[in-house]
Amino acid sequence: RTQGPGLLNNSDSSGALDPKNLKVKLVLLGDSGVGKSCIVLRFVRGQFDPSSKVTVGASFLSQTIALQDSTTVKFEIWDTAGQERYAALAPLYYRGAAIAVVVYDITNPDSFNKAQYWVKELQKHGSPDIVMALVGNKADLHEKREIQVQEGIDYAEKNGMFFIETSAKTADNINQLFEEIAKRLPRPSTSS
Ligand code: GDP
Repeated sequence: RTQGPGLLNNSDSSGALDPKNLKVKLVLLGDSGVGKSCIVLRFVRGQFDPSSKVTVGASFLSQTIALQDSTTVKFEIWDTAGQERYAALAPLYYRGAAIAVVVYDITNPDSFNKAQYWVKELQKHGSPDIVMALVGNKADLHEKREIQVQEGIDYAEKNGMFFIETSAKTADNINQLFEEIAKRLPRPSTSS
């Protein structure tokens, strides 16, 4: 069975790929505390609830969105749930991922450096056609900003990544993040 790299088994019962209904694995990477869980909960549940951590061992949360061309994309979102410290596990974690979302906190330069580390890891170990997004989260904290928008834009551009700043707290750009990465997915070919 042929399948686009990084796309999960989204074939219908006849075994044919359904290019209108994609199912993809998305992994979140970034320093602990940058807001990965909050971004997921905001997107999946529409809530900002820092106390409700995705528990270790919970595999993933999923959420489906419809694009304008009537394609649907079902994201299976994997959060590291604190395992970002165990770098050795990382290649297992992003195996089969079509999308990697690398998150930093715009008030925290260390988290921006760590994001760059994860990008290099993905370039070494990720699928070559993985769609990568760089996300500057906590954009609501203007007065504490340490990483300028342009720094994020420049780094993302150099590394062929989509870039966006978000706030899980105010919901700013959260849906846009997922819509934009969905649009950038390689589509399985419809020709036989
Ligand atoms: P994770 O370790 O990357 O999953 O980070 P969490 O999602 O647990 O968030 C860490 C902390 O950052 C929590 O205390 C959240 O309240 C806070 N946080 C997350 N996103 C935002 C945001 O967009 N704005 C602000 N002001 N705080 C946020």
